[in-house]
Amino acid sequence: MKHPVFAANWKMNHAPADAKAFVRQFLAYFPRQQDRTVLIFPPALTLHAVTDALKDRPDIQLGVQNIHWEDKGAFTGENSAPIARAAGARYVLVGHSERRHVFGETDEETGKKTAAAVRAGLTPLVCVGETLAQRNAGETGSVVLRQLRAALAHIEPHQISSSLVAYEPVWAIGTGKTASPADASTVHAIIRSELRTLTGEREEAVPILYGGSVNSGNATTLLAAPDVDGLLVGGASLDAEGWATIVRA
Ligand code: PEP
Repeated sequence: MKHPVFAANWKMNHAPADAKAFVRQFLAYFPRQQDRTVLIFPPALTLHAVTDALKDRPDIQLGVQNIHWEDKGAFTGENSAPIARAAGARYVLVGHSERRHVFGETDEETGKKTAAAVRAGLTPLVCVGETLAQRNAGETGSVVLRQLRAALAHIEPHQISSSLVAYEPVWAIGTGKTASPADASTVHAIIRSELRTLTGEREEAVPILYGGSVNSGNATTLLAAPDVDGLLVGGASLDAEGWATIVRA
């Protein structure tokens, strides 16, 4: 039996008042369920409002979409992991494709961010995925493994065991194109095998989520694919009713 993980990445959407309205609506559609984990990654400026709106639903956990690798200091405009933790975050996205491809985040930086997350008591959700050119060149496996190893390079095996990973092909994010369930399974199996090596565990239990144009129409099929343990959802997580349909998949 899977215990799926559903993660909503709101990106740069939902001001505090919209977010509160979203939570009210979402909770009406989604009574507490023990058999799944639900995470929401609001914009950092909205985190406080969402923490407050969810105070009676500790089953739904929150995260931030990015952190700096230093804990504090002269880094104007950046999110600190310890401050995010103190503000209610329990998770953090590391290496999201938009961080890598819009903001030029490097593999080395993802490794430092994962270490900062773990230091601060945040659970990292490490995102990896290939571009269309890399996919067409047959490089999917090597790209994903390179990103995974770099992102997990500075944490201990037991800390890797309590992290999460998302496979998000860049060409599928926000495009309406998804990996086929079979293709997602193939890449997830590659990731799983590497996680076994990195953690030294024969049965590693790191949830591996699929992300990239997931919606209420394709969520069930993707989630049913072997080695797909959950879904990381951007655009389709912005509507409370649609998101509730996905998390009930
Ligand atoms: C994402 O932002 O992680 C994502 C998968 O976006 P979308 O669902 O919109 O493709």
